Amino acid sequence: MSDEVFKKVVSHCKEYGFVFPSSEIYEGLGAVYDYGQNGVELKNNLRQYWWKAMVQMHENIVGLDASIFMHPKTWKASGHIDGFSDPMIDNKDSKKRYRADQLLEDKISRYEKDGKSIKATQLQLDLDEALLANDLGKLKDLIIIHEIACAISGTRNWTDVRQFNLMFSTEMGAMAEDADKIYLRPETAQGIFVNFLNVQKTGRMKIPFGIAQTGKAFRNEIIARQFIMRMREFEQMEMQFFIRPGTEDQWYEYWKNKRMQWHEKLGFGSANYRFHDHVKLAHYAKAAVDIEFNYPFGFKEMEGIHSRGDFDLKNHQDFSGKKMQYFDSDLDENGKAYGNYIPYVIETSIGLDRLFLATLCACYKEDEVITQAEEGKEERKDTRVVLTLPPMLAPYKVAILPLLKKDGLPEVAREIMNDLKTDYNCFYEEKDAIGKRYRRQDALGTPFCITVDHDSLLDKSVTIRYRDSMKQERIPISKIREILAEEISWKKLLEQ
Ligand code: ATP
Repeated sequence: MSDEVFKKVVSHCKEYGFVFPSSEIYEGLGAVYDYGQNGVELKNNLRQYWWKAMVQMHENIVGLDASIFMHPKTWKASGHIDGFSDPMIDNKDSKKRYRADQLLEDKISRYEKDGKSIKATQLQLDLDEALLANDLGKLKDLIIIHEIACAISGTRNWTDVRQFNLMFSTEMGAMAEDADKIYLRPETAQGIFVNFLNVQKTGRMKIPFGIAQTGKAFRNEIIARQFIMRMREFEQMEMQFFIRPGTEDQWYEYWKNKRMQWHEKLGFGSANYRFHDHVKLAHYAKAAVDIEFNYPFGFKEMEGIHSRGDFDLKNHQDFSGKKMQYFDSDLDENGKAYGNYIPYVIETSIGLDRLFLATLCACYKEDEVITQAEEGKEERKDTRVVLTLPPMLAPYKVAILPLLKKDGLPEVAREIMNDLKTDYNCFYEEKDAIGKRYRRQDALGTPFCITVDHDSLLDKSVTIRYRDSMKQERIPISKIREILAEEISWKKLLEQ
């Protein structure tokens, strides 16, 4: 995969109604995007794949939908007001702002690309050390020593490195004077922590158990780039797993592996994933690992798995004055109940938008197709763009295409569509030559096309065309459901 592929994926997203820049008629808004008619379907399906795997497939995990706004004390307790910041640096000539750590990471990638692996390793070590010590001066020194220049001005005229808090704030209250400053949540996790006892008590949950949630999160990213990879408004899918203290290493390993298996089931190739252990841990973490995906611009974080200890629940207990304890009636090896304690937490946190981007990058293909030669004419080579999405994720599962717009063919096609549309998202189209219509469905990732022709009127059969093989088969109308059910099933995706 390369930058070239990435550009193609981005323009495909726009051209085929997957992703649009936000408020585009006003020239867009930095790092904010809208999902179009096909994007919203794919995104819903990806969310459902996660929800089913986490909630439906685990008896001890339940869902939650907490609000975006939370009491401001939440963010004091969680450490976000004091600790949720990135080191930023400005170029004095271009006035452009950068994340200091990202400038250095880009330099490391460039060293690696140029075969300067010793320099790359050394810089990585220096960077880790500076981040770990929160040494902003050293970050600036590294930028100077490694002669990093601004991409716009080309100069190395830098300001000092400063910390920049990533939370968006707004006011709640009718009058400016009595307004309270509140924040747009930078992660969904805190909504889970503050509801921990509500869910545990009303759901009669026994440890170990999990609470899962999907929803919007907001971060005022210093620089936003790479399309929907780094957005200021994005969606997270998080699960907090509450455990008995002392069992965290075993559950951390369990969820690391479980999440990797979930990714691999999508069939995008195991070699495109890797674990990356964190050196600099977030303020809440005891151990943390990323699952990275091989995007066209390199391996980058898609999901994080964090061992958060009792950091969050304990802080909420301290700040709210409310007990966050669980009573464990199970017996330890001495036959004594474990009793009251604040549970430890393992978190799995994935960005839905990054998953969406990974899915498109993995499934975007350009095939060379040879069109059969007509008598006396030369063979024609053509390229087709196809999204080889797992059928369950495809925006449309089946396209119903009457060959002509007359002779009763649309009526038969509509009948088929009416039968299928309660169970499958169907696309109906009668305009254009059939070849052109097939290509359009390929570009959307529709796994099946059903074509109704004149023979269909006589023998109640249709042509089914398979997206990936482009094979066409004649089948009775009565068999369509059976074929679709075989291929389009959550069971297939979740259990393989
Ligand atoms: P990064 O280092 O890339 O900024 P992070 O380590 O801050 O990410 P987490 O706080 O662990 O990210 O958030 C969990 C997940 O949320 C990430 O793995 C990612 O998929 C997603 N995520 C975080 N920030 C963004 C963003 N700005 N845009 C889109 N997705 C994001």
